[in-house]
Amino acid sequence: MRATAIKLAGALLIAITLCGMSGVGYVSSSRVVAAPKAEDDFQIVKVADGVYAAITKPGGLPSGNAGFVIGKDSVLVFDTLLAPVAIEELIAEIQSITKLPIKFAVNSHYHLDHTGGNQVLVARGVQIIAHDNVMIWQTTKNKRFLPAPEDLAKRKADAAKQLADTPADQADKRAQLERSIRRMDALMTIKLTNPTKTFNSGTMTLDLGKRKVILATLPGHTGGDVFAYVPDANVVFTGDLGWSKTLPNLVDATVSDWVPTLDQILKQYPTAKYVPGHGNVAESADIKDFRDYLDDLRARVKQGIANGLTVDQAKQQLTLPEKYKVFAFKNFAVPNVEDMYKELKGTKFTN
Ligand SMILES: [Zn+2]
Repeated sequence: MRATAIKLAGALLIAITLCGMSGVGYVSSSRVVAAPKAEDDFQIVKVADGVYAAITKPGGLPSGNAGFVIGKDSVLVFDTLLAPVAIEELIAEIQSITKLPIKFAVNSHYHLDHTGGNQVLVARGVQIIAHDNVMIWQTTKNKRFLPAPEDLAKRKADAAKQLADTPADQADKRAQLERSIRRMDALMTIKLTNPTKTFNSGTMTLDLGKRKVILATLPGHTGGDVFAYVPDANVVFTGDLGWSKTLPNLVDATVSDWVPTLDQILKQYPTAKYVPGHGNVAESADIKDFRDYLDDLRARVKQGIANGLTVDQAKQQLTLPEKYKVFAFKNFAVPNVEDMYKELKGTKFTN
């Protein structure tokens, strides 16, 4: 458990570096940083009539993707992004397109980059729907992804000091530090907030007025994942069950469940457009590539174990195959070997 916590903290640090942040209008030593705009954080992509994806930009605050579906009477938001400021940006985008009320939100799973904006929607009276396990893990397991306030304050002070010491001609480094400070500010405002309605099997159909959204749950990424299908638009919001041209975080995953889950989704929705949890709007071929990455990882690690490799040897020798080197988040390649090794050995989940 301790090793897992350390690894998670490492993953968060990687995510902080990777996803970064930009300023909230604070004054740095050499210039005023402009207030962030939604277009700095994510791009709104129209996937079908009334169906939109919010695709996180590299360096954007939110980390994971979100989206929304507009019916005749109301709006559904799929995932609430990393923090209050990010979901507020998404709400502003929604309100620029429709004046209809947001009636439902979905948490695809508990990970903070998909639930960090919950408090904003609950305060607006929006019903948030998720898997039963999110109700257990949202305010417990998520603490591993959310450093304590004093820790965040210290990291922010360190970054601010580094920024003050970084000359104006090192623009990239300054921008990265500015994004880090903005991220700390955003994380400090999060109050881990539960969904309001949960289920653990079958499907749940939500009516937005002349448009339905069907929620269903399948195992793989965390054991508490929900995805959504919009039948009249043929769009699937996968949450983190689907990643497009991006290596996944396997920290809570069971790959032996995940591959059949993806087979089932692909069989059920072969012609759908996919809004993945990470990466751009995708076709089924992209989700198939991702499924193949997981299957290939499992096969390679299984062979490594059969050949007598220790976990450290497996991490060193089982390097990422050439075809996946174009994927984003390559920092997950080595941890994924370790997670897969432990899953196959039956030592991954010990508590
Ligand atoms: Zn996730």
